Amino acid sequence: MDAANILRNRGLRVTKIRVAILEALGEGLQALPYGDLQKKLSQFDRTTIYRTLLALIDKGLIHKALEENNESYYALCSDCTSNLHNHNHVHFKCNECSSVQCLHISKEVGLSIPEIVIDSIEITAKGTCSTCLLTH
Ligand SMILES: [Zn+2]
Ligand SMILES: [Zn+2]
Ligand SMILES: [Zn+2]
Repeated sequence: MDAANILRNRGLRVTKIRVAILEALGEGLQALPYGDLQKKLSQFDRTTIYRTLLALIDKGLIHKALEENNESYYALCSDCTSNLHNHNHVHFKCNECSSVQCLHISKEVGLSIPEIVIDSIEITAKGTCSTCLLTH
């Protein structure tokens, strides 16, 4: 993944902090808690990190995967645009190692409720991840 290219494609200026955040989140499939991001990006000040996260969310590049116990988890978006976040995926949290992953599922998640229009659905599943299952 080339973070600089991703930013240019969205018409965003390439800055160190933006590249650093995209690269930190792009390392694996896992969503990263804000606390971990701060540790990885300790050369930047907290306000800069937070503002940049909000800007990248606004541009459809990253999303908040989960918010729990005052910790927010962030992950890269795959096919969102600056106009629309479109996440047809499930967020999975492992109860044992607390890792959070974006899981892309083959079936679209659909839900219809009379008299309302649903634009997006957020699903958080909890259980035991494959790594933890292997250690049992
Ligand atoms: Zn998104
Ligand atoms: Zn686990
Ligand atoms: Zn996600």
